Amino acid sequence: MKVYKFGGASLKDAEAVVGLGNLLRSKNDRPLVVIVSAMGKITNAFEETVHSYFKNHKQRSKNLERIKQYHHTIIDQLFDTPQRKLISNLDALYVEIEQFFQNEFHDDHAYVYDQIVVYGELISSQIISYYLNYIGLDTKLIDSRNCIKTDSYYRDANVDWTKTVDLINHHVDPHQITLAQGFIAGDLKGNSTTLGREGSDYTAAIYGYALDAKSVTVWKDVRGILNANPQIFEPTVLINEISYREAIELAYYGASVIHPKTIQPVQRKKIPFYVKSFKYPSKAGTKIGLGHKIQPKVSCFIKKEKLVLLKISTLDFSFMIEKNISEVFGLLYQYQMKVELTQNSAISFSVCFYNKYQRLVELISTLKQNFKVIVYRNVTLYTIRHFNQEAIDRVTSNGKKILLEQRGQETVHYVCV
Ligand code: ASP
Repeated sequence: MKVYKFGGASLKDAEAVVGLGNLLRSKNDRPLVVIVSAMGKITNAFEETVHSYFKNHKQRSKNLERIKQYHHTIIDQLFDTPQRKLISNLDALYVEIEQFFQNEFHDDHAYVYDQIVVYGELISSQIISYYLNYIGLDTKLIDSRNCIKTDSYYRDANVDWTKTVDLINHHVDPHQITLAQGFIAGDLKGNSTTLGREGSDYTAAIYGYALDAKSVTVWKDVRGILNANPQIFEPTVLINEISYREAIELAYYGASVIHPKTIQPVQRKKIPFYVKSFKYPSKAGTKIGLGHKIQPKVSCFIKKEKLVLLKISTLDFSFMIEKNISEVFGLLYQYQMKVELTQNSAISFSVCFYNKYQRLVELISTLKQNFKVIVYRNVTLYTIRHFNQEAIDRVTSNGKKILLEQRGQETVHYVCV
């Protein structure tokens, strides 16, 4: 069994879906599980629809209309004959969405989000399954909400592995192609859940783990894993091979190639994980596995923007020791800050974090009751793995002001403005 995953960019229009069909035909890997995301930017469109559920009802119907239109254009271009059953299946999905909106109002944003955003994947998997069968690739469509069971932590649900492994093995066809949605899952109450944005990579790893797959391949619109985001750092180098551990480190520090939770399940079963280009499917791409730590040996650059840096010291300039630091951490946890980096000296404690839930003002005012606080908003955190002087110069030149530097054996961080 192998697992393939296709993300939004590889499904963004009819041509891309035709490309997926060609790829499955030419690779001829059977049995195969194919995980698909929503098409193009449809998850964003559904996010806006959820937003308008709470804010602006008129906008909501407009959004939904645009979503329908987008998919209908793709269907029109994919099929030469009318696909009545497909259209009626999609209509049934749109009716479910409308009904949800017309039912009693729910004020839990994360719950509403998951009940609605999953339709991006439900629609795309319907279209793709009809298309694959239409071109003669026998495909069984299953619903990941019935296979991946999670808790009810909406928008970032946690997998119940025992139930999930059983259910996946029960639903997947061990002989042909099984098609399933990425990103979406179901809780024990029968509600939809999601695994976090860009979560389909993780879904592919979950199916791979449950099925003891021979390999998991994520087909992307990039050549593989690069040593930096080409929109930020040029030139970039393709990484041919990277260890599970190194891939986890990169994802943890914010490299946007792979969803951070993805690697652990495949690592546990030592399943090779490939990142390849759907445009050049015969190229090797990147292999994540047991072998080399990183090949070729290059520095990797990661940039995280829009963070906050606080420099905290005691009011009487006494030492920042365990008691004070634990108080600060308690507050960071209480105000749901996502900490990226900390550093302490004798009299000051610095912390760089992402103000995800917009609670910075509250945090600062509480901190100021007991501490002196210097606040830097909108700072950028640069991380370099496997650094050398040239890599450091690349990041720290251009007149950036360095507010904090932290060096380990293999990693250096700079917080800059
Ligand atoms: N469709 C979801 C998203 O855009 C999941 C994914 O593509 O991985 O985040």
